[in-house]
This record gives sequence, structure tokens and C-alpha cells, in this order.
Amino acid sequence: MATLAAEVIPQSRSAVTHNILDAIGNTPLVEVDGIYCKCEFLNPSGSIKARIAHYIIARAEREGLLRPGDTIIEASSGNTGNALAMVAAVKGYKMQVVMPNGMSSARVAISRAHGAEVILTGDFHVNEALAIAEEYGRKPGYFCPRQFANEWNVEENRRWLGDELLRQLPAEARPDALVCGIGTGGTLIGLGQALRARNPDCQVIGLEPAESCTIACAEVGHHQIEGIADGFIPEIIRNHRNEVDGLISVASDTAIEEMRRLANEHGLLVGPSSGAHLVAARRIRENNPALKTIVTLFCDEGEKYLAEYYNA
Ligand code: PMP
Repeated sequence: MATLAAEVIPQSRSAVTHNILDAIGNTPLVEVDGIYCKCEFLNPSGSIKARIAHYIIARAEREGLLRPGDTIIEASSGNTGNALAMVAAVKGYKMQVVMPNGMSSARVAISRAHGAEVILTGDFHVNEALAIAEEYGRKPGYFCPRQFANEWNVEENRRWLGDELLRQLPAEARPDALVCGIGTGGTLIGLGQALRARNPDCQVIGLEPAESCTIACAEVGHHQIEGIADGFIPEIIRNHRNEVDGLISVASDTAIEEMRRLANEHGLLVGPSSGAHLVAARRIRENNPALKTIVTLFCDEGEKYLAEYYNA
């Protein structure tokens, strides 16, 4: 029998990483209720957005769109702002996050902790923040990643997250369906492209809150699944609409209940969007048992929701 140490202590890879950005990615793929769940909440900055922040900033530097001393400005409901603030801190850029009102207070505090300036708009949705960030982004000395429209977002999700996930899936597993919440749509479209490279029939299904199913039913409403459904149809989705096979909606209450169960029964301290993703994935399997291998994601960590949703 293997020793306890050999059983529980993983082999270390390289000893030292250059900086925290080198620790982005290589997140675990955990099977929960028979669904493959990519644990993106374990990235530095606590969400999937660490990847596009790192990728887009590196690309912008390489293409000369971002130079030392410049300011990065971006509209974000939270996670992208936090991730960009982390990248900006490491690389020495000034950072301004334009954020709608009503996001969890921890999101604002995290960006500020990394030295970013947070500009809060009066709106609950991201629209107003978007207009401000894009206006400043056109000025000299500013770079705006434009996450909702930027094809580099899709490209990252296909080439980095997508390739990584395909390497982790068991060799015999052909992904039958992907379900993913739509914030920018970058994860759904990019990861969908990657999974379709292995199985061209893979169903790519977008997730929206029931209270704000903007794409499926042209509704914009208040919801609690922070990080998705920002109040408009993002340009990435408009440009790739034919790559989306279906849409599913989950109510905020259901998402939060499932989020608590994930923490309680599975030790996964995640946010409401992760709860929504797992509920949606199970429903898709129930409605279509032929879809055996289903992939979804746990996009952000739960600590920043403790006050709002866990202890409520
Ligand atoms: N869940 C959470 C918690 C998020 O923050 C995001 C990104 N805003 C998503 C899901 C969806 O990601 P995307 O922007 O790629 O659509």
C-alpha cells in the first residue's frame, strides 16, 4: 500500500513561479453529480476572468496598444475588474474599473485592494459603465480591453481554457453538451468551439437568469446571479449567434440554494453562478438522457458572497 504522503501530497512541478500570473490556469476538473465541472474559481483573483485579463493584456502589450505608464479601463460587474486589477498590479499599470451599483461590496474592495480606482455608476446593469469605459478607452494613454466585444476573449477561451479542458477529459469522453452562463459570452463561444473540435455535435447551451433572460425572451430584470446577464446582448453573442444551440434559464433562488449545497455537501465554496450552472447541467441531462458527457464551470469563488448570500 502507498504511504500516506504519496497518496495525498502531489508531486511538485517547478519550484518557483515568476509571478502570480504564472499560476493562472491548470484548474481541476471535478465530477459532481456525474457532470464535469471546471473549477475556475481556483484561479488567482478567484474567478475564470484571470485568464482573459492575463491573455488580453499580454496581447495588447505585444501589439503595442498598451505601453508602460498607461491606464487600463474596463466596465465590469466585478470579476473582470478584479482580475484586471490583479494583472495591472503585477505589471505596474494604472487601473480604473467602471462598475454598476449593487454588486457585492467585496468586489469593489478587492479591486481597490489591488490599487485600482473604482468608478461606480448609478445603474444596476453594465450599460452605463460600458459607455464610460469605451469613451475613455479611445483617449491617448488608455487601453480598454472591451471584454464584451473583443475576439481575443473568444480566442483565449478556445485556445487556453478549451485545450486545457480537453486534455483533462478522459480520452474516451466525447463532450455531448456544454452549458455556460453568458456574461460576455466569451466562455460559451470559445469553449464551445474547442469542445466541438472533439465532437462536432456537442450542444452549446447558454445560461441566463430566469429573471433576466435577455437573449431568450428579450427581458431585462433584477437577478442575483452576479457575473452573468448584464442587461444587454453582448456583441460576442450577436456575432456568434449561430454557434449557440439553445438557452436555458435558472432562477436566482434556485442558484443560491444549489450554491449552498455545493459548499455544504461537496466542500466547494463557490458563487451563485456556479449553483446555476450545475442546476442547468442536470436539467439538460434529465431532458435529454442521450447527452451523457456534460461539461460546465464553477466560475467564481464564494468568499465574496458570504455576507450577502451564505449567511442570509
Ligand atoms: N459566471 C461568473 C461568476 C462570471 O463572473 C462570468 C463572467 N462575467 C461568467 C459566469 C460568464 O463568463 P463570460 O463573460 O465568458 O460569458
